[in-house]
Amino acid sequence: MDSTGNGHAVVVGASMAGLLAARALSETYERVTVLERDSLPTGPAPRRGVPQSRQLHVLLSRGAEVLDELLPGLTDDLVADGAIRLDPQIDTTYYLDGRAIAPAPSGMTVLGASRPLVEHHVRQRVERLSNVAIRPGVDAVGLLTGRGGAAVTGVRTNSSDAPELAADLVVNAAGRGARALTWLRDVGVTEPDRSRVEVEVVYVTRNYRWEPNHLDGRHGLLIVPMPGTPRGGAAVHMEGDRWTVALFGLIGDTPPVDDEGMLAFADSLPVNDLAKLLREAEPLDDPVQMRYPASERWHFEKQRRHLDGFLVVGDALCSFNPTYGQGMSVAAMEALILRDLTRARTAALPARFYSAAAKAIDAAWTLSVGSDLRFPEIDGRRTALDRTLASYLDRYRLAATVDPTLARTFLRVAQMLAPASAMVAPGHLIRVFRGSRRAR
Ligand SMILES: Cc1cc2nc3c(=O)[nH]c(=O)nc-3n(C[C@H](O)[C@H](O)[C@H](O)COP(=O)(O)OP(=O)(O)OC[C@H]3O[C@@H](n4cnc5c(N)ncnc54)[C@H](O)[C@@H]3O)c2cc1C
Repeated sequence: MDSTGNGHAVVVGASMAGLLAARALSETYERVTVLERDSLPTGPAPRRGVPQSRQLHVLLSRGAEVLDELLPGLTDDLVADGAIRLDPQIDTTYYLDGRAIAPAPSGMTVLGASRPLVEHHVRQRVERLSNVAIRPGVDAVGLLTGRGGAAVTGVRTNSSDAPELAADLVVNAAGRGARALTWLRDVGVTEPDRSRVEVEVVYVTRNYRWEPNHLDGRHGLLIVPMPGTPRGGAAVHMEGDRWTVALFGLIGDTPPVDDEGMLAFADSLPVNDLAKLLREAEPLDDPVQMRYPASERWHFEKQRRHLDGFLVVGDALCSFNPTYGQGMSVAAMEALILRDLTRARTAALPARFYSAAAKAIDAAWTLSVGSDLRFPEIDGRRTALDRTLASYLDRYRLAATVDPTLARTFLRVAQMLAPASAMVAPGHLIRVFRGSRRAR
């Protein structure tokens, strides 16, 4: 029994990345045990170990597709439980640089569902798998190694009845700031290189009662921050006939948590839709603030030597500026990679996994960091090519306000259904040139 399958796999963390990894491994491992430090709610509810669960979350189109592949019918179940399917181009007003992109039916679907509802449904489905056991209230505290320190053979826990758990594969899905790196150092493994972009994002989320006449009947709104105005906001129609509204600032621009302050923040945005919604809709709870200091990525794919039998996934491997909504979708894509590699009984699983995951992460990271680096206050390397591309994309965004085809391609990239290169496809260059002149 080894990391090519057939034995016991232990996953640390029963949030999105951990549950999906457990689902992936359940196909080839005899037993999968998921250790979770929190006690787990029986229904959809926020919890301590996932502080972001009170903040606005959106499941991107690619993420919804992958969830349905791993757990067939999951998005139908979510919709049956009140989640809203929305077309990001026609049901949502999407403001780029203060102007709405051209509306048209896009054929894409985004899911308006709260983070606790999504996690609840995923957890229920994973709990039903006969060879998966979720053990709440167990804190994993370190690794057990063998073969002279070359392989992981299990985890140490805080549980008095099972302080050591033997495993053929240990997956760390313990989230951002996870102790995966400390665990590696403890067993004498050098930590990988890190990329970090200090974005200093602050979110304030609050729920309001949804009424059909709000936002002229649309189901979503996104006002993307732009250079000079590093603040934005979003509203999404969710389960429970509610709007989940988020105000967010970058580079430390902090949305307030009192009614008057929130309104003043919304009034200061380049368009007034969100302020109008806040004035019309009835608040259902108190606003909740959360700080997110930096996007962070660990480059395991560049390491020459890997600990056999150990993987890091989800936010612990890479966490993205949340305003682009990529985290759950990338975690799902990593689970799909894990499923395919373990199905194929791939040897050298860690090296193959990190190399394939790096491609999925690269696409999302390039997009989010590329957008972050539009803000001169954010530190990062900008090459001459980046600057040329940035000025093309400025024109692209402008042209997308009058050209629905450009708007659709932009959304396909943002929804992770197409690579960023789709925006520089030959047919699009001329459209960008013409469209940006027309829009001016
Ligand atoms: C403000 C904000 C908004 C976001 N919005 C979006 C969005 O719109 N769309 C989107 O796709 N993503 C969004 N994200 C990102 C998304 O929340 C994460 O990418 C997603 O939850 C996957 O995270 P994860 O499972 O890797 O880790 P987490 O969700 O952080 O979960 C880690 C789990 O591990 C457990 N754990 C930790 N240590 C241990 C231990 N030692 N032993 C046992 N258990 C342990 C924790 O209790 C927790 O359950 C947002 C993030 C933030 C901060």
